[in-house]
Amino acid sequence: MKEKSILMKSAVCLAVVALVLAVSVYAAKDKYDVHDGTRPRPPVITPAAQLGQSPSDAIILFDGNDLSQWRRDKGEAKWKLENDYMEVNKTGSIRTKKPFGNCQLHIEWATPKVIKGSSQGRGNSGVFFMGIYELQILDSYNNKTYADGQAASIYSQYPPLVNACRAPGQWQSFDVSFVRPIFDGAGKCIRPARITVLHNGVVVHNNVEIKGRTEHKKKAKYRPHRDKGPISLQDHGNPMQFRNIWIRELPEQPYLIAD
Ligand code: MG
Repeated sequence: MKEKSILMKSAVCLAVVALVLAVSVYAAKDKYDVHDGTRPRPPVITPAAQLGQSPSDAIILFDGNDLSQWRRDKGEAKWKLENDYMEVNKTGSIRTKKPFGNCQLHIEWATPKVIKGSSQGRGNSGVFFMGIYELQILDSYNNKTYADGQAASIYSQYPPLVNACRAPGQWQSFDVSFVRPIFDGAGKCIRPARITVLHNGVVVHNNVEIKGRTEHKKKAKYRPHRDKGPISLQDHGNPMQFRNIWIRELPEQPYLIAD
């Protein structure tokens, strides 16, 4: 009789635990009611006072003063520092010292005023998210090349929706929202990366799914990597200029994670 009552009590306890778990899973899935007063308000930030400035919660990666946020494979970044910009000088690609996952990036760039070369040889550089996924930079102003390699393409994967390139020597901007890929324990990609890109204020990629690594003449495939990686800027041998680079780290949003 005593054993029976202990068994009964255990069964009740288990049922209670199961109920609590079920309720919390349900609650985690849809935690707040519509217009729920207990839902935390987002942090207040100060947006840029005017164009060319950054919001208050941005990490400044380059403001024209120094390259202290950047490095190259063999030590300190050596790109030429001039007025408010830095210039590629064949000392190798550079990358941020700090790694990033989901992020918003703002970057301004200019291709050389004096046109030299053609196709991929003219004003080539690139922004690599996590050091792997390239958003192409190229002088695509009256410069024909393959569509998935022109300025603002996701290299080897997607041409931009439109060619919004400015003329050589003029400052241009990318504003990007990047969602990192997620891999399972076996190294399988269970959530591909996604990217939205504005080129000179024009949407050229609207939340597209990145198919894998953006390699030259290779079909994209994912290979596992860490949750965070650097922002890299490519030295492709052309004297490209960069200025006003800032980034905001973005948290995961529940709807982006698969069940
Ligand atoms: Mg490139």
